Amino acid sequence: MVQCRNCRSAGLSLLYDFGRLPLGGYLLPTAALARQAPTFANALAICGACGLVQQASDSAREALVELVYSNYQPTYSMSAAVRAYQESLLDTAVRLSGVQSGDAVIEIGSNDGYVLGLLKHRSLAPVGFDPSIDPALARSGYRIFREYFGAASARRYAGAHGTVKLVISRHTLEHAFEPVDFVEGIAAVLAPEGVAVLEVPYLQLQMMNNQFQSMGVQHVCFFTLGSLSDMFGRVGLRVRDAWFCQMDGGSVVVCAGTRPPAGADGGRAAQIESVEQILRLHEPAGFGQFFAEVARQRTEIRGLTAQFAGTGRRIVAYGAGGKGQALLNLLGLDTQLIPYVIDDTPGYMGKYVPGVGTEVVARDDPRAGEAGMVLITAPTHIREIVERDRETRGRDRLYVATVPRFHIVDV
Ligand SMILES: [Zn+2]
Repeated sequence: MVQCRNCRSAGLSLLYDFGRLPLGGYLLPTAALARQAPTFANALAICGACGLVQQASDSAREALVELVYSNYQPTYSMSAAVRAYQESLLDTAVRLSGVQSGDAVIEIGSNDGYVLGLLKHRSLAPVGFDPSIDPALARSGYRIFREYFGAASARRYAGAHGTVKLVISRHTLEHAFEPVDFVEGIAAVLAPEGVAVLEVPYLQLQMMNNQFQSMGVQHVCFFTLGSLSDMFGRVGLRVRDAWFCQMDGGSVVVCAGTRPPAGADGGRAAQIESVEQILRLHEPAGFGQFFAEVARQRTEIRGLTAQFAGTGRRIVAYGAGGKGQALLNLLGLDTQLIPYVIDDTPGYMGKYVPGVGTEVVARDDPRAGEAGMVLITAPTHIREIVERDRETRGRDRLYVATVPRFHIVDV
């Protein structure tokens, strides 16, 4: 087991071993290659000293860089709901930081540059850090750095261009192999009065929403507010406020800075941390029930699927993104049980899911049309998927999903 990625303690305790699983987030050109895809230890552990939940091993690190992060597929800016959410989060971040026209704002994990565009539209000077950022963005006048963000890159930036009043980052810190180096970078690049607004999946909400398919090796750390505060504290950052949002199966947004919270600020964060203590999220006791339920579902869902397939009716999955791929592999739903997975992303069709080797097909593919049951593996938009499918297929199909629990979808 690794040393704690936050406090360097050697005292990690195993919470749950998912077994060896392939990476999610990429597809392969043939079924044979997909079935031979490399697999990696996927087990979660908790630090007895600081309470950070994290991957117990680092074995997938190089493969993630090579197979997944080198050709990252931008997806998150697609839906109108997410776009509206990003605008409202920016409103909040701008208000909390007091940035004004012309001020530089750093975004860590810029993906396709969508948020950089929103910042530019607000007359701010966007700066993007992301190893797989689109290089064409530089030609559009953005200052971009195609590298992992950390203490060294942040100090280089601050030395050349000065500190900034606002750093924003959505769903990036949980992927960082060196999370303390990441937050140290934030501390290094923030002006004394500046704030960082970070959004990450929130462990308790992820558990409440049955998001075990999000616990693959792509996610290195799984945060409570207590463990985040501890990590920030190591680099001189203080959590000033925190609030929850529905993004990505349940997330927390944290506003942090070098100054302590003023007046009533910080009260909400303290309340959340005290609830985490009651739920015992700083120790193994807070997780036993959840992982026992995960183990039970892995047996039960596979059994029910095999039973249905045994009646001669076809089952297809819907959603070939990273989380859908993880679910198929976690539940052992090989092509004997689920021969095809439908996906709407252009470029996915005719490719195969690593591990199970399931072929990705379009929604209107006749092979998908024969299905009597659809397992919706995309954790969001479940209702929209079913409603749209019903418009063309009628009501003769059964739809099942695992979020927020394993259930028959009834719309
Ligand atoms: Zn620790």
